[in-house]
Amino acid sequence: MNHTSQDHFICYRCGTRKPLDAFTCRIDERYYNMCRVCVSEVLLQGQRGKKERLHHTKTMRTCYLCRRFLPVDRFTQRSNGTYFSACKDCNRHVFAQRRRARLQGADGTYTRDQWEALVQHYPHCPMCKRLWNDIPTLTSGASVITVDHIMPLSKGGSNHIENLQPLCYSCNSKKGAKVLSRIYEG
Ligand SMILES: [Zn+2]
Ligand SMILES: [Zn+2]
Ligand SMILES: [Zn+2]
Repeated sequence: MNHTSQDHFICYRCGTRKPLDAFTCRIDERYYNMCRVCVSEVLLQGQRGKKERLHHTKTMRTCYLCRRFLPVDRFTQRSNGTYFSACKDCNRHVFAQRRRARLQGADGTYTRDQWEALVQHYPHCPMCKRLWNDIPTLTSGASVITVDHIMPLSKGGSNHIENLQPLCYSCNSKKGAKVLSRIYEG
């Protein structure tokens, strides 16, 4: 873990120890391991990266997640000689997050088809009632429709489709880890 004390984290990208408020709180009340400064740098570079391919040389590669230009030994090499697109640090954090979700007792699973069928029942965000198309798009290019666990995973909610509803990203972040009953019966 990156906890050096209760109220500080070390950002894995810049390696700086910073107070909690320098990190974004996730909807499940945990914190992202990359500080806000690094996240905004990554987002900015990501926008530029649309026109520009990631820069790789024989000895250095650009990680597509943290956008750092790092020696190739910071990337895992596959047996066929190609490299993972995320550096070892990013991979470790992505896997740790998935593992935590599983450990949180996230029982159950759903398919992309089930999720899309569920979203069909919601013409708008059930919390703010804005039509999906009226919600400003994110600079990161991520979908404005996010998965909300009605009973949060951190409170023992499952990952079954019955426990899911779509919420727009801003309502989802406002909701935090609170329990919100299904607002729209589709
Ligand atoms: Zn940082
Ligand atoms: Zn990285
Ligand atoms: Zn909303």
